[in-house]
Amino acid sequence: MKTLSCDLCEVTADGETFEDWMNALKPHYGEAHADVINDSNNGKEEMDKWMTSNKARFDTA
Ligand SMILES: [Zn+2]
Repeated sequence: MKTLSCDLCEVTADGETFEDWMNALKPHYGEAHADVINDSNNGKEEMDKWMTSNKARFDTA
């Protein structure tokens, strides 16, 4: 189990795998960072970038 902070604030989420962690973070993202999720500039490319950088962060945590 790894504990990693949100990439935008200090809130943390736990996960056994990166996917678990991402699912644990999702409700927080929807509440605290809804503006980011709803930003129409955030297309698939940005999402892929987010996944790549946060996966790397998770793997090295
Ligand atoms: Zn956050």
